[in-house]
Amino acid sequence: MNNLYTSTRNDQVKISAKEAIRRGFSDDGGLYVFPNFNDLSINIEELTNKNYQDIAKLVLRQLLPDFSDQEISNCVNDAYSSSFDTDEITPVTKVDNFHVLELFHGPTSAFKDVGLQLLPQLMKHSIADKRVMILTATSGDTGKAALEGFKNSDKIAITVFYPHNGVSKVQQLQMASTNGNNTEVAAIEGNFDDAQSNVKKILNDASLKKELGDKISLSSANSINIGRLIPQIVYYFYSYKKLVENKQIHNGDKVNFSVPTGNFGDVLAGYLAKQLGLPVNKFIVASNENNVLTDFFNSGIYDRNRPFFKTVAPSMDIQISSNFERLLYYKSNGDTEYVKKLMNQLEKNGKYQVSDQLLKNIQDDFYCGYSTDDEIKESIKEVYSDYKYLMDPHTAVGYKVMRDYQKIDDSCPTILLSTASPYKFVNVVADAILENNSDDDLQLMKDIQKNTGVPIPQNLARVWDLPILHKDVIKKDDMREYVKMKVEADLYDKN
Ligand SMILES: *Cc1c(COP(=O)(O)O)cnc(C)c1O
Repeated sequence: MNNLYTSTRNDQVKISAKEAIRRGFSDDGGLYVFPNFNDLSINIEELTNKNYQDIAKLVLRQLLPDFSDQEISNCVNDAYSSSFDTDEITPVTKVDNFHVLELFHGPTSAFKDVGLQLLPQLMKHSIADKRVMILTATSGDTGKAALEGFKNSDKIAITVFYPHNGVSKVQQLQMASTNGNNTEVAAIEGNFDDAQSNVKKILNDASLKKELGDKISLSSANSINIGRLIPQIVYYFYSYKKLVENKQIHNGDKVNFSVPTGNFGDVLAGYLAKQLGLPVNKFIVASNENNVLTDFFNSGIYDRNRPFFKTVAPSMDIQISSNFERLLYYKSNGDTEYVKKLMNQLEKNGKYQVSDQLLKNIQDDFYCGYSTDDEIKESIKEVYSDYKYLMDPHTAVGYKVMRDYQKIDDSCPTILLSTASPYKFVNVVADAILENNSDDDLQLMKDIQKNTGVPIPQNLARVWDLPILHKDVIKKDDMREYVKMKVEADLYDKN
């Protein structure tokens, strides 16, 4: 009963949720998945009047059967009691004819906080006596959210890699100013995909494991970890029940979710919510100009051999959407040999093609589109001037593709996931809504507030005055050595 999780690339693997959380991903390179949802469901009628934490406990109990009720309760309470700036955790706002699910009220003002405030709690209950070094590749938001989640943990240290010059000024300051006695941050000369694939390689490196000895193990805080993904299922249920309470829908009515997408973690969590019984019509997968997924949805060919664009929605500048592997697993009815074959092709040739049937299965649940940089700015401007709602550039991607979809079918209410505070990306937002632009980001922050009246989240207002504690810039090929050095320093420190 407890050994439920398997690997997307080998269905002989059977491990518990705790082990899956501790290990991050499978030795065969696959990701851990919950194989079938037949016996699980969440009764949406029961959600009415439950608060966020209660719904979180319901979801976690379904998917983490080896955690006791007490453990789940403690984890959820510790994660969400005081670190968000609203009791709702993820409030829902009506704008024009759609609903915005605001996921940026946590300590770092990005949706990653929802997963990364809870993951460290789950990890705490999953590790044995060993220390753990968490390795995280970030396109900007995961890094700071993970640092905040794990900093000063007892048995856990964390190292974050981000693309040098590939994140916004605010994001860079947030990471570089992180304190805590167990945090490491390095910029790498490369892009997010380089950081992510090297982290995966390091986690899979048997010789490194030997060199590090048995006092410490390595794990991951990226959305390849189920402990990061499962917390994200919660807000899909929460937003649905808010719409019911606000008399926008009746229990059982279908809704769409529009999701700004990079690594496919957020939208996959939505798909898992649907497997648990949430009535969803379509998931609208919204990409920026790195539109590998849009092409896939149109052709069945996933091809990363293309130029990499640095866009104004940098947290989505990704060509290999890791969690898409999980969708391939589910949509091929758990055909792990097939998934393994596709993933090998992706590694070797940078591309693969799926069967027509598999593509059709995916299209049943998902619609996909993308937004250019110009369209992002137009969307921010339009939504602000028409409805006085201020969006960040990632949310604007979701908005644009949602509007595209509504032209085809507007029969269901749509919930747009807002993934970051506009104040994390002040350049772009100022470009879209202000007449005269300073080239000083702090000034822009103040100007945006003065013009819109939207309050600046405290953590972002303060970031300018904090000392810079992390300055390392390293070559992408030196990541393994860097990890080794930091692990050794950490062990030395803590012994
Ligand atoms: C990470 C991130 C995304 C993409 O989410 P995935 O789970 O990687 O698809 C979108 N917007 C923002 C602001 C993010 O930080």
